[in-house]
Amino acid sequence: MPIIPAPLQSIRCLPLASLLLLAVCQHLAVDVRAQIPLLKAFNRTAQTDAMGYRWLRWSSERIGHRLTGSAQGAMAEAAADSLFRVSGLPQVMRFPFRAQAWSRGTVQLTVGDGEGFLHLQAVALANTPLSAAVDAPLLDAGNGLPADLDRLGEQLKGAAALVNIGLVAATEGARNLHRSEKAKLAMDRGAAALIFVNQAEGRVLLTGTASIDGALIPVPAACIATEDGSLLRNRLATGQALTARLGMSNQSAMVEANNVIAEIPGSRMPQEVIMIGGHLDSWDLATGATDNGLGSFSILDLARAMNAMPNRPERTIRFVLFMGEEQGLLGSRALVEHYRETGELARVKCMINLDMSGNPQGFGVGGPDGWAGLLRSACDSIRTVDTAAFAGRLSEEVWLHSDHQPFLMAGVPVIYPLSDLGKHVYGCYHSSCDDIHLVDPQAMVNNVRFVGALAYMLAAAPSLPPHFNQAQLKQRLIDSGLEQPLRIGGDWPWP
Ligand SMILES: [Zn+2]
Repeated sequence: MPIIPAPLQSIRCLPLASLLLLAVCQHLAVDVRAQIPLLKAFNRTAQTDAMGYRWLRWSSERIGHRLTGSAQGAMAEAAADSLFRVSGLPQVMRFPFRAQAWSRGTVQLTVGDGEGFLHLQAVALANTPLSAAVDAPLLDAGNGLPADLDRLGEQLKGAAALVNIGLVAATEGARNLHRSEKAKLAMDRGAAALIFVNQAEGRVLLTGTASIDGALIPVPAACIATEDGSLLRNRLATGQALTARLGMSNQSAMVEANNVIAEIPGSRMPQEVIMIGGHLDSWDLATGATDNGLGSFSILDLARAMNAMPNRPERTIRFVLFMGEEQGLLGSRALVEHYRETGELARVKCMINLDMSGNPQGFGVGGPDGWAGLLRSACDSIRTVDTAAFAGRLSEEVWLHSDHQPFLMAGVPVIYPLSDLGKHVYGCYHSSCDDIHLVDPQAMVNNVRFVGALAYMLAAAPSLPPHFNQAQLKQRLIDSGLEQPLRIGGDWPWP
């Protein structure tokens, strides 16, 4: 991994700053008073003719899901391209990449106790085999973390592992892993089939990739409802020997998909880019209205609103709608790789990722010294425009498994809106109930208002703090507890 050239600005704010140094540090911050009229004008524009919800509802009714590689996915790409153009964005382009387009066929799961069989409702996880039929003893693998699997030892070889997607009755401080990481750990230890238990109540089934890198995994993996998971666990706990028979057939082909990109060139510093991205693709069980219609259609509306303003932002704002996120960040990985090869990455000063964001109450940031202070001052400025709807919270937590990850791993500072969409939304994550009825139109308007305001502040900052260098990035990932998941995923770049 090449070191990112440290751009522009390496001034740090020290706690014991002299008055002189303080003056230098203020150079990093935005001149808030000068920005207030602009923020107020944008706030009005964002609320006039807001289109995000209307466009998302249209897409949900007319296109349906937006699975990468499907006909609907291609229609969503074309719709996003058109909507950027209809809004008059001066530059719109598509960035093509290759992706494994997996689509579900049939799945059957039966559990037997030697005397009879129970048929269970199940959905296949994505990137599972094109054809599989496994008959294996069923074992309770708890939360599927390394300690749970160690407890089963050799028994796991050739077995069907029952694994929670969430963390249930975990030891204090335990950190959950992504389902694809749990699948990798269990397969490495010889599991022949994976039966994931969803934790949302109400017989909700969840899909999502079982593969870390988008390639098909060798064993079948399916998800069952929490109610059925409890039933099986109770029987296993009484010492009953159960056998699971999991069969599935799916389709897969390599296809071309497209990230859709638009930008507004900066008026004063066009060479420097503030990127605002989010994934347009969704799973196929519903229309992906919250994951991630919320984020992607808010970005389309944000582009409309910023472009409708009389003055251009001072730095370039680039809007990117990624495809292939759900299959393993395929579109964002491809774009970062291209930017790395062409040197474009040095121009991208930060990446703001909207994935299931709505009604932001602040921002999270992962960047070296200077970024948190900059975000703090931006949040304070946004609160001068609207204190009632925006709490101005700041988090420095870093997480994985969305399109900011490839940028972060390349050293680019990442920012994300802090959202709390409520249990009714999170319970439908990746499920057949992720539909337009879950979407609050105002939550999308507030995405536009507050992410837009942040973008204007970042675009106007006299200078921006640098990218991570390798040592800073490594330390930050370790401090955030991300070394283990990155190692499991083969994404840890250090020995
Ligand atoms: Zn998502």
